[in-house]
Amino acid sequence: MHIQTLAVHAGHDVDPATAAVTPPIHLSTTFAREADGSYRGGFLYSRYANPNRSALETCLARLEGGAAAAAFASGSAATMTLLQAIGPASHVILPDDAYFGSIKLARDVFGPWGMEVSIVDMTNPANVSQAMRTNTKLVWLETPSNPLLGIADIAALADIAHRGGAVCAVDNTWGTPVLQRPLELGADVSMHSTTKYLGGHSDVLSGALVFKANDELYQRVNSIQMTGGAVPSPFDCWLVMRGVRTLPLRVHAQSASAMGLAEFLAKHPRVEAVHYPGLKSHPSHDVACRQMSGFGGMLSVQVKATAPESIAIADRLELFTQATSLGGTESLIEHRASVEGPGTRSPANLLRVSVGLEHVDDLKEDFDRALGG
Ligand SMILES: *Cc1c(COP(=O)(O)O)cnc(C)c1O
Repeated sequence: MHIQTLAVHAGHDVDPATAAVTPPIHLSTTFAREADGSYRGGFLYSRYANPNRSALETCLARLEGGAAAAAFASGSAATMTLLQAIGPASHVILPDDAYFGSIKLARDVFGPWGMEVSIVDMTNPANVSQAMRTNTKLVWLETPSNPLLGIADIAALADIAHRGGAVCAVDNTWGTPVLQRPLELGADVSMHSTTKYLGGHSDVLSGALVFKANDELYQRVNSIQMTGGAVPSPFDCWLVMRGVRTLPLRVHAQSASAMGLAEFLAKHPRVEAVHYPGLKSHPSHDVACRQMSGFGGMLSVQVKATAPESIAIADRLELFTQATSLGGTESLIEHRASVEGPGTRSPANLLRVSVGLEHVDDLKEDFDRALGG
């Protein structure tokens, strides 16, 4: 089935109790036992499983072409749970350009628990080969990466990870299952901050891990999910499901507008560089063409300006709200270096853009005016 069809139907069943077409939200934390001690719907207590969460997990597994999924209270909780499942006294490899919270989790939270962490430039697979150790258990990819839109070759890196006996996980938040299929390219796990494109409306914090196989790693994650309880609320799950129904439509529109805006900005005299994998000038454009069916709604622009002037440009934009996060219907812009703080790798003149659903010509016009062009 095509992803448009899955987005509408996967995990969406007519409610058996009431025939409601839109699913009810099951707030109950506990479920009644039958006389024989069994549970009619298979649900016992909401930390273990809940009808809304189970529906979301079914939906996400099918969207990614996976065998199982686990939903969490945030993307970061999903990442944390995977690292917990990988276990202490192991070595993990992360990309140098990645969501700063993922690096922080591995290095600052799990480091003191005995996890060894290597941070490498993954745009060149040879760097990952060199970083592999006998105790490497996880190669974590983020592609396109945050905030420089670097592209990592999923198939090549999954192969390197597997040859070294490690798991390959991909943060597919920016790619989305609409444009990028990590599990089909050889990865074992696809991770999402469903707070972003899957939720799609900047109104729900949640995350997920999708597994290629219902294997021992999934079982361990599921056990930590149920025992640790970093789970999304039933309403959070309901909101993500609602968002997913329009995911393919939104992502294709945002991707097309991002391409148009990137091309416009690349030619603008006040712009130093545009980072967007859809541009032929992007250093990994060929890899992006191979593994993505579209290039997504995120781009970064380095303006010809100092840090304060860059922030002033972002502030002059009327259609782009200065705010962190991405993947909503409204366009957002962010001076990433100020958000990440000291130690950031973001250039001082870099503005990260999440393209919304506005008309691309209005977005171009807004930028032209703000840049003083
Ligand atoms: C936002 C984001 C995260 C973290 O997700 P939360 O839902 O904020 O915890 C991880 N990876 C990427 C690429 C993100 O954009």
